[in-house]
Amino acid sequence: MKSVMKVDLLCNICNGETPHTIIYNDNVIEQIVCDCCQYGIMLDDETIKQNTGSDLLKRVVTKPARMTEEMKKDLGLFLKSMPVRIISKPYRMMTEYKKTHEE
Ligand SMILES: [Zn+2]
Repeated sequence: MKSVMKVDLLCNICNGETPHTIIYNDNVIEQIVCDCCQYGIMLDDETIKQNTGSDLLKRVVTKPARMTEEMKKDLGLFLKSMPVRIISKPYRMMTEYKKTHEE
C-alpha cells in the first residue's frame, strides 16, 4: 500500500529547505522528491539490503506516525550518506514508467 508524507528537507539543487514528498510503499520509503525542482531519489532493494545493519536506515525508512525534527535531521543525514539512485527524470514521468513496468 502506498502512502505519502510531506516534509521540509534540505535540497542540494534548490540550495535550501524545500517541501519534499516522501512516498512510502508498505510503510517503507520508496522515493523522496523535492516539490520545487523535482529532483529526487529512489531507494532500491539493493540499497536497503546493503544497509540493513545501519541504525540510521532503520530509523528513517519506516513510516513514522509523526515526522519529528529529529527524524528530519536523520533523513537529511541519510540522503547525504546513502548511495541512492538519483531520479533525473521529472517525477511524473517516473511514476508512469513504473506503472508500465509493474503490469
Ligand atoms: Zn529542490
